[in-house]
Amino acid sequence: MTTVGILGGGQLARMLALSGAPLGLRFLVLDNTADACAGQFAPMVVGDYTDQPALDEFASKIDVATFDFENVPAESAHWLAERRPVFPSPRALAVAQDRLAEKTLFRELGIPVPDFAPIDTREQLIDAVARIGTPCILKTRRLGYDGKGQFRIKTPHDLDAAWDALGAQADKVGLILEGFVRFERELSVVAVRGRDGEFRAWPITENWHVDGVLSASLAPARVDDALAATAIAHAGKLAQALDYVGVFALELFCRDGVLLANELAPRVHNSGHWTIEGSETSQFQNHLRAVLGLPLGDTRMLGQACMLNWIGAMPEAAPVLAEAGGHWHDYGKSARAGRKVGHATLRADDPAELAAALRRVGAALGREDQVEPVIAALR
Ligand code: AMP
Repeated sequence: MTTVGILGGGQLARMLALSGAPLGLRFLVLDNTADACAGQFAPMVVGDYTDQPALDEFASKIDVATFDFENVPAESAHWLAERRPVFPSPRALAVAQDRLAEKTLFRELGIPVPDFAPIDTREQLIDAVARIGTPCILKTRRLGYDGKGQFRIKTPHDLDAAWDALGAQADKVGLILEGFVRFERELSVVAVRGRDGEFRAWPITENWHVDGVLSASLAPARVDDALAATAIAHAGKLAQALDYVGVFALELFCRDGVLLANELAPRVHNSGHWTIEGSETSQFQNHLRAVLGLPLGDTRMLGQACMLNWIGAMPEAAPVLAEAGGHWHDYGKSARAGRKVGHATLRADDPAELAAALRRVGAALGREDQVEPVIAALR
């Protein structure tokens, strides 16, 4: 009996555990909150990622470790990797934890990125804003996610406000300034690399964000084959350079038909949730296969899929459940503003059918704003 340890007990760990059950796997989750939602399906060790007795207990009970949360402290990941196989490796994790290291690697690999500059002082910010121009975005290098730890500098007048908001973080987590990309669309490549180096990617996903948080994903994205091939080639290069094992997502902006890399998420990703019903093998199943050294599953799509994120509180389930291709995922979390509490996936055989289902669900739930951009992309 193999036990997979997961650092972090959120919905990603929960969906990993659910998808690992048919493989006969057991799970153990390490999280600092006893009511973490993965704990409803897997035993837990409750403790901080830096809590040595908790780490000792966790390591002693697992065969292999992986992550639901990428911001596990590097020392804890290294400590664990000396005792048990850890995938992705602490090195890959370290690169993905740091926006500067990540963008530097993208550039080294020939993957285009928005203009960027490391920022340690107010003077550097003034110089960098002058060089990169406005609008631009000041971001924390570490620990930011879902648009948190970001400040948009629309004009040079916003510079003081940006420094007031994030300047104190410069010594703690570092800062980076990025040029603002006026993208036509946001895309992601969700891909998997096995222990033996085999690489597979799911069809490209198009994503829509509201206030920096993913709102909807559509697969396959409406992009031409050449662009899709370039996106997948970027992901393949990255996976190889990092000797990556497991699932990851590469988030990309598309501007004037050119792809610019935004970030690498070293884990199963929200923009890949549609793979549970929309693909031959889900991202969760393939992540487990990769970390266990099992053959990877086929990543081909079954028709068209759209995922809608439920943020803050769950809506009524019935309109989604009434759809032939409607699938409901309630993460078992309590409602809280800004929190990802669940998602729905609508699957259909062709774009018109998917658009019609989205229209019905959007109207029934009063969420026309959320479905409209996806329907427009399907036209
Ligand atoms: P991130 O946490 O970097 O993934 O940012 C969250 C969201 O903010 C992205 O998905 C974009 O919608 C937006 N965003 C982040 N960086 C940029 C940028 N350089 N230019 C334009 N939009 C951005």
